[in-house]
Amino acid sequence: MSQPASFTSHIWDTSDLYRNAVEQLVEASQTMNLDGNVAERLKYPKRALIVSVPIRLDDGTVKVFEGYRVQHNMTLGPGKGGIRFHHDVNLSEVAGLAMLMTFKCSLVGLPLGGAKGGIRCNPNDLSRQEHQALMRRYTTEINMIIGPDRDIPAPDVGTDGQHMAWMMDTFSQNRGFAIPGVVTGKPIEIGGSLGRAESTGRGVVYCVQHAAKHLASIGKPTPKIDSSTTVAVHGFGKVGAVAALEIHQLGCKVLAVSDYLGGLYNKNGLNIPKVLEYLAKNRTIVGYPDAEPITNEDLLALNVDVLIPAAIDGVITKDNVGKVKAKIISEGANGPITTEAIKELEDRGVFIIPDILANAGGVIVSYFEWVQGLQSFFWNESQVNEKLAEVMSNAFKRVVEIQAQYKCGMKTAALIAGVDRLDRAMRLRGLFP
Ligand code: NAD
Repeated sequence: MSQPASFTSHIWDTSDLYRNAVEQLVEASQTMNLDGNVAERLKYPKRALIVSVPIRLDDGTVKVFEGYRVQHNMTLGPGKGGIRFHHDVNLSEVAGLAMLMTFKCSLVGLPLGGAKGGIRCNPNDLSRQEHQALMRRYTTEINMIIGPDRDIPAPDVGTDGQHMAWMMDTFSQNRGFAIPGVVTGKPIEIGGSLGRAESTGRGVVYCVQHAAKHLASIGKPTPKIDSSTTVAVHGFGKVGAVAALEIHQLGCKVLAVSDYLGGLYNKNGLNIPKVLEYLAKNRTIVGYPDAEPITNEDLLALNVDVLIPAAIDGVITKDNVGKVKAKIISEGANGPITTEAIKELEDRGVFIIPDILANAGGVIVSYFEWVQGLQSFFWNESQVNEKLAEVMSNAFKRVVEIQAQYKCGMKTAALIAGVDRLDRAMRLRGLFP
């Protein structure tokens, strides 16, 4: 069996996120003794499209934004992955996120490949009309590589169901008929799935419950996930806010939450439904009355049982990992902990639920949405949640079994679970031509 070759790209590896994803892939490949030819192919995306997205701003001037869509691997099915609006988005980061999507879809057993997209912009500085113009023009520019059987976008940081509605409408207008299957995370009225909006945060919390049961079953001291459990949530968006609400509803004390402007702390636990009401009125949590302010950096260092980083990648690094005191970390965001920091945390006995497992709830229910749309037959929310819980539970079990088999960390185990299925599929399909 050949060994994985060294990484030789000059294009892809310019972001920490991509480099971290490749480092984790190499570690998993070596641990599982993966065929070097397969490992070599997995280090590079299949294809990428860079587009210029010109729009007329509200003040009448024209501004050109840079947009990307990267398809990492489509062995198992059409590409799947969100569209990110963020000022730091770049080709390499999108490629790294696409790679994580490949392993995530494979890990949870979906017939989907990995893709991701993004536009380099500051979503907070744009009006609703500018968001719409950006989304519609971007859709037109990438329309030749997306579609229900090619590549199916979804929301990510800075985008939501409304963006998916504009994307679906633009794609459909170009073809002349409604094509709801081109995106997931759509509003219910145009073919979205019940439970999709909550699915990622819900999955993050299912994983925390599984982790507590697992740790107890192997005799490790562990929080019970009840009123004695303390939690901090970094990022209060589509993932973080739902995770905070779900874990609050289990009776846990959510001591702190934050958004990009700052955080809230209450030593007795925040009233999360009230924080959500405040957010809906004010577009930020900052200023919520029944709490003290806390910085994002101090939130990550709180002495809590459970930490949920659910904002953005690279927030726990070698520089601040020494301050992190949580016992369980469920990675709601993609890549919130760098490879070096993961090693240090795992050496200290912190139980990490890796991103491709913890936040897989979103793509699982996106898959359900796609399937429901293709059949034009929609399920009720309890059916969606029941199936989500079953897929997450099986994936969690598989990862801890692999961890025990290879005596490795959870991050490597999750990667192995994803790569293993893909490896078999890639070798069965062979290398074309
Ligand atoms: P979002 O835009 O809805 O929310 C992001 C939140 O993080 C906001 O509260 C924002 O203010 C905050 N934030 C942004 N930058 C920050 C910073 N530097 N410090 C502190 N807070 C910051 O995005 P989302 O959809 O919730 O995605 C969050 C993460 O979860 C991303 O890594 C995304 O890729 C990942 N994810 C999302 C989904 C999904 O279904 N939305 C699925 C899987 C993974």
